[in-house]
Amino acid sequence: MSTFRSATFRLTAWYLLILTVISLLFSGIVYSLADREFEHVAGPPQRQLRMMSLAPNEIEELNNTRQTLADESRDRLLGGLVLFNMAVVSLGGVASYLMARRTLKPIEEMVEAQARFSSDAAHELKTPLTVMQSELEIALRNPKATKSTYEKMLNSSLDEVHRLKELTDRLLVLASKQDLEISSTDIEAVAIEAVNHIIPTAASKKISVDNSVGTITALANSDALIDTLVILLDNAIKYSPSKSHISLSAKQTSKRVILSVQDNGPGIDVRDQEYIFDRFYRADTSRTRGESEGHGIGLSIAKRLMELQNGSIRLAHTSTKGSRFEVSIPQA
Ligand code: ADP
Repeated sequence: MSTFRSATFRLTAWYLLILTVISLLFSGIVYSLADREFEHVAGPPQRQLRMMSLAPNEIEELNNTRQTLADESRDRLLGGLVLFNMAVVSLGGVASYLMARRTLKPIEEMVEAQARFSSDAAHELKTPLTVMQSELEIALRNPKATKSTYEKMLNSSLDEVHRLKELTDRLLVLASKQDLEISSTDIEAVAIEAVNHIIPTAASKKISVDNSVGTITALANSDALIDTLVILLDNAIKYSPSKSHISLSAKQTSKRVILSVQDNGPGIDVRDQEYIFDRFYRADTSRTRGESEGHGIGLSIAKRLMELQNGSIRLAHTSTKGSRFEVSIPQA
């Protein structure tokens, strides 16, 4: 990115300028201190000379020798300081460039990630809009369109509007959640609330849901934890065959509470496992690509929500017989 290249050069120039000014100041101070010393050494030490009872021409000669020695030392110091400053400027130039790159690198990565996010989000928004546009155009151009044709078209458009709404809601969660209030939370109540959210979707696929979470408290943000569990349960339903079974359970370790969502879905391919928590990543396999396409941001939101409450999320187990996602939060 050329903006960053020019910013790197500008920052390098500033660093180098600061370094050069410090080095020149330091050299100036050293030179003036040394100069005073040289003056002192070169000056005639009258008392000692008198005590040595030297002849005036001998004193003159001695003074001249001292002055020459002082001048030579002064020249050598000046030469040394010039060399030192040249070394500071050349080595400092390289160091300044490396420092500038190091300073700007995280900002550059953040800007790149934001640009990628915007373009992915725009792409995801464009797909349902394009579908709606072509359906509306076809229906309008069809001279034989009946009431049922329009009904079908409107229902399909409504599906796309739902998809758009779900996507924008999730994008807003990603953009808005900066920090969360964490307190002692009733995990049993959280689990019941999350399961209540997904019961209608599970029922539409005749999937049974087993919630065995008992009385446990943990340090969490209850709304964010509900959102996280809803995302996991939603996925479990979305990727499982109809008439299957999903379960939500909890266990305690010495310091953490672990919540597990288990499904009987097709599992997640080993090549996809490290990417599923990335924004807009969707495993492109026949296993999970069916009539139920998502946007690829559910798990990235779940991960973000867990990070904001000192928790974590992971794919604990997956095989062709199903997947288990685990959420870990600190005990209260
Ligand atoms: P999506 O909206 O596509 O479900 P997610 O971020 O929630 O996005 O999930 C990312 C990908 O991980 C999905 O596209 C899917 O391929 C895979 N995945 C997530 N949960 C499951 C699951 N329970 N079973 C199988 N695959 C899953």
